[in-house]
Amino acid sequence: MPAASITANLAAVKDKIAVAARAAARDPASVRLVAVSKTRPAEAVREALAAGQRHFGENRVQEALRKFPALREDYPDISLHLIGPLQTNKAEEAVRLFDVIEVLDRPKLAIALAKAMEKTGRRPALYIEVNSGDEPQKSGVPRAGAGEFICHCRDEMKLPVTGLMCIPPAGEDPARHFSALAALARAHGLPHVSMGMSGDYEAAIAGGATSVRVGSAIFGQRG
Ligand SMILES: *Cc1c(COP(=O)(O)O)cnc(C)c1O
Repeated sequence: MPAASITANLAAVKDKIAVAARAAARDPASVRLVAVSKTRPAEAVREALAAGQRHFGENRVQEALRKFPALREDYPDISLHLIGPLQTNKAEEAVRLFDVIEVLDRPKLAIALAKAMEKTGRRPALYIEVNSGDEPQKSGVPRAGAGEFICHCRDEMKLPVTGLMCIPPAGEDPARHFSALAALARAHGLPHVSMGMSGDYEAAIAGGATSVRVGSAIFGQRG
């Protein structure tokens, strides 16, 4: 897909989000689109910004650091989401740069984020990533321990946990993973549910997503 179609792709994705939301008897405005700009050049992000997009997702701290500080000078209202694994030694940089960190999945990272927040005075929203298929190679807190981990981070450590995130197993019908994550968020009174990518964001909306993370359907296939 040529870069010139980013604006058109964004409009098409937004239309499909609205259709999927209405089909689920939901307000289209209740679904936030996070444009996943990992591996894309800053010019591609600028085209999306010019089309009105403000929420962006990146999966590496260093890559986001190279692109976003300059973009924020022109667009201070950008909201940047970290959606890839975070090492504890990058926690401080992440807290300084991101508005939402969607990948909290272990006690050591919770401690590192708490320290970074205390040091910087910044408190980005945190989502807890759940390994919804309990896949050994994937990050995310195991399903069975998710409830306890939510309470530990939010109630004991007083971290600003406001949502859950998952990436369902590839090659499986994601629907039951989506509804399980939404149910877990409801049970704990968490308002945000981040799930659904280019291939399945409509199903995620049917399952209760409040935030979808869409990359290739907006920016084209990653090279
Ligand atoms: C890359 C990525 C996405 C976007 O994937 P697309 O299939 O390009 O839409 C969403 N979420 C996470 C966690 C990702 O790493």
